[in-house]
Amino acid sequence: MARELNEDSLLPCPFCGEYPTPKEELDDNDSRIYAIEHECNIYMTTGWDHDKRTVIDAWNRRT
Ligand SMILES: [Zn+2]
Repeated sequence: MARELNEDSLLPCPFCGEYPTPKEELDDNDSRIYAIEHECNIYMTTGWDHDKRTVIDAWNRRT
């Protein structure tokens, strides 16, 4: 399976090979927060963080 970073610098899921969906929301203080979530045979999430790079790195370490 090819393990190449996509345009969001994310690695594909090690189980199904699909790329996860980066999510973006505003927290209670209207400050932007990010998370990477993916669901296939198990549900994976990095949790929310104010730094997009942090969640990308968290995802890529896990895969
Ligand atoms: Zn998957």
